Amino acid sequence: MRANSLIELDREHLIHPVVSWSGHEKRGATVLQSAKGVMLTDSEGRELIDGFSGLWCVNVGYGHESIVEAAAEQMRRLPYATGYFHFSSEPAIRLAAGIAELAPGDLNHVYFTLGGSDAVDSAVRFIRYFYNVTGRPTKKHMIALQRGYHGSSTVGAGLTALPVFHDGFDAPMPIQHHIASPYPYRNPNGSDDASVIASSVAALRDKVEELGAENVAAFFVEPVQGSGGVIVPPDGWLKAMREACRELDILFVADEVITGFGRTGPLFGCEHDGVVPDLMTVAKGLTSGYSPMGAVLLSDTIYRAIADNAPAGKPIGHGFTYSAHPVSAAVGLEVLRLYTEGGILANGQRSGAHFTQRLQAMESHPLVGDVRVRGLLAGVELVTDKQKRLKPTADLKVAEHLSRLGYEKGLIFRAFADDIVGFAPPLVCTIEEIDLLVDRFEAVLDGLLEIPDIRGALAA
Ligand code: PLP
Repeated sequence: MRANSLIELDREHLIHPVVSWSGHEKRGATVLQSAKGVMLTDSEGRELIDGFSGLWCVNVGYGHESIVEAAAEQMRRLPYATGYFHFSSEPAIRLAAGIAELAPGDLNHVYFTLGGSDAVDSAVRFIRYFYNVTGRPTKKHMIALQRGYHGSSTVGAGLTALPVFHDGFDAPMPIQHHIASPYPYRNPNGSDDASVIASSVAALRDKVEELGAENVAAFFVEPVQGSGGVIVPPDGWLKAMREACRELDILFVADEVITGFGRTGPLFGCEHDGVVPDLMTVAKGLTSGYSPMGAVLLSDTIYRAIADNAPAGKPIGHGFTYSAHPVSAAVGLEVLRLYTEGGILANGQRSGAHFTQRLQAMESHPLVGDVRVRGLLAGVELVTDKQKRLKPTADLKVAEHLSRLGYEKGLIFRAFADDIVGFAPPLVCTIEEIDLLVDRFEAVLDGLLEIPDIRGALAA
C-alpha cells in the first residue's frame, strides 16, 4: 500500500496517544517502516537515528534475530498460557526468577502486566489490599512528585503530575497529592545538592504531617523523572527520600518503567543510590519493546503480609488475561540474556560515559541552559537567556521547530512542550553512533539559531 493511502487510513481510523486529535488530522502520521540497530527508516525512505529508543524502550536496539527466534519458538510451542487457575508457563517462571535474582534487595515476587500503566495500577491495588488486610485501612492517600509520570490508567494518571493527563479527565483524585520536584536547575530553595535534598525531604514530611501518617499509604517516585523533562536528582536524593518514607511509615514505590534495564547505567536506577524499595514497577526495557510487558515487584515483607493475612482460601481478585504472557516472557528472557551475557548493559555504560561528555560540552551553545544526564538518559533545557534562565516564549514555537529540524537532520528525540529535549538512545549505541547523534543534535540547535525570531530573542 502506498504511504499516502496509509496516512489517509491512519487519519480516519487510528487514534494516537497524547496528541491533539484534530492537530493529528491536519498533520498526518509519519509512518515508520523498518529498523536495524539504532537506525529507523520511514515510508519516505528517510533514515533517522533513534535517539529515543522508540519511547524509551528499545534498549537493545532493533533487529535482534535471537529475540525474534525466541518469540517464534514460543509461539509455535505454546502461544498462550493463562496464569489463572494455578496454571503457569516455563518462560514466565524463569523470567520472574531471573528478575528477582537481579533486582535490588528482597524484591523477590513478580506480578506481570502488559506495560507500565497497569504495573502502576497493580501496585496501587496491592498497596490498598496490603493495608486493608494488615489492619490499617485508613492508609489510603498517596504522594508523588510534581512533573512525575506514572502512566495514564484511571488511577495512575492522578499520580502523574503533568497537566494534560489531568485536564478534562477529573484527575487527580482527592487521595492523590504532589510535592515539588527536586529540579535542581529551577529549585527555589537553592540548586546545591544539600538544599535540594533537604527541601524534598521537608516537603514530604510536611505533606505526611498535613494528611496524618495514619492516612498515608505510599510515596511513588521515578529515580530520574522522565516525561517531566528528565530531571536528574543529586546523588543521595533517592536514598534520603527512601529513608524518610521508612521513618514516616509509608511505602516507597520506585517507578522504574524508564530507568529500569540499564537506561541510567546499572540494571536498575535505584542501584545508583543503593536503594531497595518496597515495590518497584518496570516495563519498557523489560522486553525492549519487542512485545508488550511490564511488572510490579513486591518485597518479601509486602508479599508475605498479603499472602499470610488475606482471608484463608479466598482469591486475591487482581488479574489480567495476558499477565505473564508466555511469548512476552520468552522475549523478556532473551532480552535479559542480551543485557547480561550479551554485554549490552556494559556497552550502555561505556556509551553513556561518552554521551555524558559530549552533551555536557554543549552547555556552551547559546541556546542551552541546562544539560542533565545519567547514563543514556538525558534532558537538555533550552533558554533564551542563560543568566536569567529564561524559557523561550510560546510564540517562538521552539518545540515545533525542533521536531521539524530533527526530522530534516535525521534524528529522533523528544521535544517536550516546555522546550526540554529528551534523549534515551539504545544501549547498543557505539561511540561513533553517539557522536553522530550529538553532531546531528548540534546541527538541529544551529538550525534553530538561523530562525530570525529565535536568534532575535537571545539575550545579548
Ligand atoms: N511510569 C513511568 C515512569 C513511565 O515513564 C511510563 C511511560 O512512559 C509509565 C509508567 C507508563 O507506561 P506505559 O506507557 O507502558 O503504560
